[in-house]
Amino acid sequence: MRGSDEIIVPGHPRWSEFVSKLSRARICFGTTDQARLTLAGMGDVNVEGSLRELARLGGTCDCQIELDVARSTASMGA
Ligand SMILES: [Zn+2]
Repeated sequence: MRGSDEIIVPGHPRWSEFVSKLSRARICFGTTDQARLTLAGMGDVNVEGSLRELARLGGTCDCQIELDVARSTASMGA
């Protein structure tokens, strides 16, 4: 069993790391391809599980994740 079950969502210790990496990808193509690549590049992350949770929070494409999800959860202190 490898430690690859981390779900990166707001409040997770690595959430800010994910957002800062994703924010380097400035152009959104209406997909979550860049978020997927970012998550995959972080290692020990459940990529599909994280994307599913982010979509539930309104992050259905890269810019929605970066802007809407990250901004609406900024007050959580993560
Ligand atoms: Zn978008």
